[in-house]
Formats: sequence, structure tokens, C-alpha cells
Amino acid sequence: MVGKVYIISGPSAAGKTTLVKKLCHEFPSSVAQSVSCTTRKPRSGEIDGVDYYFIDEKQFMLKLQKNEFIEHAKVFHHYYGTLSKHVEDLVNKGFIVLLVIDVQGALQLKKVYKADYIFIAPPSMEELKRRIEKRSQDAPFNMEERLKVAVEEMKHKDLYDFVIVNDNFDTAYQQLKAIIIGEENGEKIKSI
Ligand code: 5GP
Repeated sequence: MVGKVYIISGPSAAGKTTLVKKLCHEFPSSVAQSVSCTTRKPRSGEIDGVDYYFIDEKQFMLKLQKNEFIEHAKVFHHYYGTLSKHVEDLVNKGFIVLLVIDVQGALQLKKVYKADYIFIAPPSMEELKRRIEKRSQDAPFNMEERLKVAVEEMKHKDLYDFVIVNDNFDTAYQQLKAIIIGEENGEKIKSI
């Protein structure tokens, strides 16, 4: 059996990571998140090989030269890239593979890679601002910059096949599950 790939994007703090983690947790034998390479340092609690492959810039550039990434981007001053072989291996094992990547990476892929593209949006920019503010109390990062990038990312949401508005977490989760698990079970979901 050969699995299928879904590309998931959305602004920082829209909730995409939590939604995807829950889906992988509920369906561990059929849904897997692709583990990207990044040059950013691990945050507290993050594990190398689980959350990301944490590598330095020299290692990243070497992989880039060797064409090991199906897409890559620089996000908030760090490089991120999806390893072709890693995705291919998961697909060949029959997993539904979720690539949680930024809009720049998704747009690169859209031209060349057949997949379903899902955008996780906040209910409003005010709410997103509130969530980013809340997060910045736990992690030191530039809030203005995150907001600026979020505004840019939101401009591309209509290029995606599905847009899920994460107002209520449980509702957004059921929608994500319906798209991914429903589709795999033969239900054709056109819009949500
Ligand atoms: P974080 O550092 O907060 O985990 O992720 C920052 C941003 O980078 C998020 O939007 C995340 O989805 C994105 N990202 C993570 N891995 C990749 C990747 O392999 N490629 C691209 N283009 N973006 C990625």
C-alpha cells in the first residue's frame, strides 16, 4: 500500500502543530508527521529526530547541494527543509504523511508535488495577535515580526484546497480529521 501526502500551513499560533499532533496520536499506525531539518536550536522539551532533525547551517547547505530536500525555506532567520527520502519512505510504508511547513515551502511544492493542501487559519487577526502575545510570554521571540509574517501568510490561504478556521479547537480537529481520514475512507470532501 502506498500512502498519501497532505501539506499543512498556517500562521504561527493558528494551532496547526497541536491539531496535527492530535491526529498523529489518534491514528499512530496510519498517520505520520514528516520530521523536517532545521538550523534553529531545540526549544525546551523538543527531541532531535522527533520534533526536528536539528542540524547546523553547514550541514543544511550540504544537504541542499546534494538535493536532499523537496522544499526548503528560511523562516524567522533559520533554515527549514523537508527531506525527500524521509517522505518517500513513510509513503512507501503506507502512511498518510503530513508536512507541516510554511507558506513559502508549500507554494514551492504546489507547482511540482501532487498532494492536498490545507491551510489552518485563526478566526481573526485580532485573535491571532492575542494568541501570539500570549505565546511570547513563554518564548522570547519578536512579536511584531511574527505578526508581519502571519499577515503575509494569510494572503495565500485561497491557494490551498481547504481552509480550516481554528476558532474552536474541537471543531477544527473534527474538520481536519474529516478531510484526512474521511478522504482516505473514500468520502469525497469538497469543502468544509
Ligand atoms: P517552528 O520553528 O516554530 O517549529 O516553525 C516555524 C515555521 O517553520 C512554521 O511555520 C513551520 O510550519 C515551518 N516549518 C517547519 N518545518 C518546515 C519545513 O521543512 N519547510 C518549511 N518550508 N517550513 C517548515
